[in-house]
Amino acid sequence: MRRPIFAGNWKMHHGPTEARAYMAAFAARWTPRTDRTIIFFPPAVSLATVVHALGARTDLSVGAQNIWTEDKGAFTGETSAPMVKDAGGRYVLVGHSERRHVFGETDAQTALKCVAAIRNGLTPILCVGELLLDREAGRTTDVVLRQLRAGLAELSAEVVASIAIAYEPVWAIGTGKTATPEDASVVHADIRKALHHSIGDRAADVPVLYGGSVNTGNAKSLMAAEGVDGLLVGGACLDVESWARICDT
Ligand code: PEP
Repeated sequence: MRRPIFAGNWKMHHGPTEARAYMAAFAARWTPRTDRTIIFFPPAVSLATVVHALGARTDLSVGAQNIWTEDKGAFTGETSAPMVKDAGGRYVLVGHSERRHVFGETDAQTALKCVAAIRNGLTPILCVGELLLDREAGRTTDVVLRQLRAGLAELSAEVVASIAIAYEPVWAIGTGKTATPEDASVVHADIRKALHHSIGDRAADVPVLYGGSVNTGNAKSLMAAEGVDGLLVGGACLDVESWARICDT
């Protein structure tokens, strides 16, 4: 059984002051439970604040929205995997659609970022997803599997079995448009099949999350969709109550 994962991507919201207030409110609202993994992805500048706010709570985890491929050096403006680790992060999003399509991140860079994460003891969540024009041209599977294979290219089978994947159709991110549970299931099945092809039975260990305009109204049906092991949520995780309700799905 894969434990469900609920991952909240704050994007460029909640600096340290807001992050502190948010975490205090969430910690008061959420009763610890061991049947799911909940991960917060604050902006890098708020990461240590969120870790600090969690104190001794081990039921909630923290990750970074992005890392650079190298561990240190002249890379102005970037954050390295060792820095995330040092700040108390355990996870990192790699290849989020905004990294790919706003900042021009390449498949090759996602592969190096996955390697940097693993090298430093972080668990990458590799994000893959097609643009609307890809979907309309019938290229969804091609694009998603190309991103998947490229992102995992430098990892051993054993390592691949320890990470997570998020399927996030780009046309559904921040747009209010959601893939239907059936749409999600089709792509999740393609991902699972490709994982099985490359790492065999260990593919069963890899959680595959869905993301794209998830909210309190659709979380339940998406979580119930065949092959969906968790949710990666942007906009709807910014409000403590709606995030708690989604995590309660
Ligand atoms: C995301 O940022 O990964 C995301 C899915 O955003 P939203 O839920 O706002 O579509």
